Amino acid sequence: MSTADRDLAIRCVADACRVARAVQRDLASVQEVLKDDRSPVTVADYAVQAIVALALAEGDSETPMVGEEDADGLRGPDRRPLLEQVLAAVQRVRPDATAEMVLAAIDRGDHDATGERFWTLDPVDGTKGFLRNQQYAIALALIDGGRPTVGVLGCPNLSASPDDPADEVSGTGSLFAATLGGGTWLFPGADPDADPQPVHASAGPAEADATAATAASDPAARPPIRICESVEKAHSNQSDAARIVAELGGDPTPVRLDSQCKYAVVARGQADAYLRLPTRPGYVERIWDHAAGMLVASEAGARVTDVTGRPLEFTHGRGLEANRGVVCARADVHPGIITAIERLGLAASG
Ligand code: AMP
Ligand code: MG
Repeated sequence: MSTADRDLAIRCVADACRVARAVQRDLASVQEVLKDDRSPVTVADYAVQAIVALALAEGDSETPMVGEEDADGLRGPDRRPLLEQVLAAVQRVRPDATAEMVLAAIDRGDHDATGERFWTLDPVDGTKGFLRNQQYAIALALIDGGRPTVGVLGCPNLSASPDDPADEVSGTGSLFAATLGGGTWLFPGADPDADPQPVHASAGPAEADATAATAASDPAARPPIRICESVEKAHSNQSDAARIVAELGGDPTPVRLDSQCKYAVVARGQADAYLRLPTRPGYVERIWDHAAGMLVASEAGARVTDVTGRPLEFTHGRGLEANRGVVCARADVHPGIITAIERLGLAASG
């Protein structure tokens, strides 16, 4: 990983945020189509994947890309109107783009996620949030040597201020960028030229030590933990989460928001944990749903594992085949959540 990789990723995601926003402003005319797995995909998903793929092909042509989308849904005469909309969106930042360029760029994302080094992209993570005009994220990560080394989350509807409720739409938006060992940084307004601000999952080290010392000597002194989770019940088991929170004496009202914005919310201490608990056997989490968010949270001082406490493994292709669910939490809160999951027997459920 180099600073050039980081800067390239920030530029791509910032451009993509502008386009996604413009598409969302026009939401009434956004065409939603269903993919084979019945999940929705929009003009924005395709346009963002094309924009990022075109920029990566120029800035880092050697490195393959693993993207959520492919261009099959844009081919054929019945899909021509959708392709035209995608092309118009791409042309906002790439006036010279053609339909052929867009199709080829999107298909650049078909890599199998093997090898030493590859980018992974979720062009619109939380498409359902995007369609509801709520939270969504553009998530781009560089996997190098089996782990995320650059992670960028564009959150066009998430306020740059942690004092604003995370589940409310803000006009400004945020972009979070993390590098392995380099910390997590917030670019207010998703503006790559803004002064970046450091992001921490808890208050400064002195205060964190004091909190830990007080909590260790008197667990009752610890404030009740606040969790965030998916809006979509099918994506995370909300009743299991409620049992964990009850077990830990936490705040019974979770914050629900779509997309990897949840990782950013924990990264900046706005929630203590993001719980993603399996809802059905056999579901394998996708790498693009976690790589960028995981680095944003862990570089801010949070801990990220699956529900058994095992680190997320990005070495099994397009899925997190060795993991079940996700627990992302402040480092002092994480062990208690894993213990509660074990005690309640929830790791094997779902
Ligand atoms: P969220 O915004 O937290 O609801 O997560 C959105 C992501 O959930 C999508 O990008 C999908 O890849 C993923 N997803 C789809 N089905 C499931 C499932 N059964 N369990 C967990 N995640 C899922
Ligand atoms: Mg996604």
